[in-house]
Amino acid sequence: MKSVKIDPADKVFSWWVRLRDMGCRRCRSPVKLSGTGLPVSHQASHFQGRRKESTRFDPENVDTLCGGCHQYFTANPGEHYQWQVDIKGQDKVDSLVLRSNLPQKKDRKLALIYWKERLRRDF
Ligand SMILES: [Zn+2]
Repeated sequence: MKSVKIDPADKVFSWWVRLRDMGCRRCRSPVKLSGTGLPVSHQASHFQGRRKESTRFDPENVDTLCGGCHQYFTANPGEHYQWQVDIKGQDKVDSLVLRSNLPQKKDRKLALIYWKERLRRDF
């Protein structure tokens, strides 16, 4: 799989997702935090891939996973899909897939401002 470039907005959004979940949503292993309270373990896993701009920063599309569970779901996309249905319900998954295919103009400057503010306000 070709890698997608990670920019500062992705980094801040990934912190926000991991602080929201505080653990792997599959195996429940806890997220480790740095002295300043930022996540230093786990990953923010996109259900609909990062290439899809319209759901790239959609909190419903992204779940905290540990490295092992993230790798497992990447290798087993059918199980990843079923797990999404199990934890979110078919209706939410259907609407997420639909949203992920809508056109969306890229605005990373705005995304960075927005997610920095959410990070400051929510945690
Ligand atoms: Zn895990």
